[in-house]
Amino acid sequence: MTERPFLPFTRPTIDEATIEGVAEVLRSGWITSGPKVKEFEAALSEHFGGRPTRAFNSGTCTMEIALRIAGIGPGDEVITTPLSWVATSNVVLEVGATPVFVEIDPATRNLDLERVAAAITPATRAIIPVDLAGLPVDRDRLYRLAASHKLRVIEDAAQSFGSSWAGRQIGTFGDLVSFSFHPNKNITTIEGGCLVMNNATEAALAEQYRLQGVVRSGPDGMDVERVGGKFNLTDVAARVGLGQLPHWAEFKARRHALAKRYFEHFEKAGATELGLELPLADFANTNWHMFQVVLPEDRLSVTRAQIMDQLSARAIGSGVHYPAIHLFSLYQRLGWKAGDFPVAERVGRNTLTLPLFPMMQDDDVDYVVENLVELVKAHRR
Ligand SMILES: *Cc1c(COP(=O)(O)O)cnc(C)c1O
Repeated sequence: MTERPFLPFTRPTIDEATIEGVAEVLRSGWITSGPKVKEFEAALSEHFGGRPTRAFNSGTCTMEIALRIAGIGPGDEVITTPLSWVATSNVVLEVGATPVFVEIDPATRNLDLERVAAAITPATRAIIPVDLAGLPVDRDRLYRLAASHKLRVIEDAAQSFGSSWAGRQIGTFGDLVSFSFHPNKNITTIEGGCLVMNNATEAALAEQYRLQGVVRSGPDGMDVERVGGKFNLTDVAARVGLGQLPHWAEFKARRHALAKRYFEHFEKAGATELGLELPLADFANTNWHMFQVVLPEDRLSVTRAQIMDQLSARAIGSGVHYPAIHLFSLYQRLGWKAGDFPVAERVGRNTLTLPLFPMMQDDDVDYVVENLVELVKAHRR
């Protein structure tokens, strides 16, 4: 149908210096956790204003470890959003605690903090806010709420590396802040993540949970006081991260420019009149991790899957981030049901992630908008 090369919804930017650096690590004789992980952690800590930071092999175990550091387990409730990657609430189950979902705000698509206050019970121990698409949850209100109820906050900032709140980078302040370096995120280590903590005690615990609970002393001393997992990052992965970190601001600037162009072209094409819901036009706080539209299900004669197939036939990739978590079988078995969170359910059914990544061209945006608008018009009912 078209000669255009396929445009994925995302793609990492890896430069030649990083590829060369990875080759050096592979030739060095030490490829798992070692000097590169230490160097990466130091660079991350500097990025986060000197706060203790440790790296892990995913942004999922990072969240689980944060919950363990906060001492959260059986009998505890943790409030979170139903509109996230399922890792966010799976880790709550993993530590034996109970996830409590709260409806989202339709404008930000993030946790509705007003409703969070109403969901707090004597068993509530923590809140896990998610900065969906990189758009930060209101940190002022969040931390006021947490402080007044003595709750821990485990920020699932998997998508918001480089985002800020009131001029301060996410991670440079707050309680426990978790990032992911999955290839789809704004910077990557292939797989990986990091946790920003409050003090050396938490950092020491993080190291134990990361590797079998082991505590070393001297050249041969070893003790194990608690159960830990196998969550260490490799030096190969850390070297990828070291090659990414210096570029975060430039990646973010490019994402901003592309997002601006999406808004301009969607507005010109009359997208809102067609019922397409655009994301919040934020250019102060978000890192534009994703550009997501919500399809007008009541005004379309086709399904989202059909729209995705037809975009794909025009060489345009798209994604779904995410279906509402509480409707997954596992969560329905825990008592959640359709109708519990109508906004999250509607967004989950109709959200569509459009291509957005630093190497994308301006005219790729034009092409996506033109084709999506054409499809929405063609299938109007
Ligand atoms: C990517 C992501 C995670 C998990 O990160 P992994 O590195 O893939 O384990 C958790 N929460 C959110 C919101 C994410 O987007």
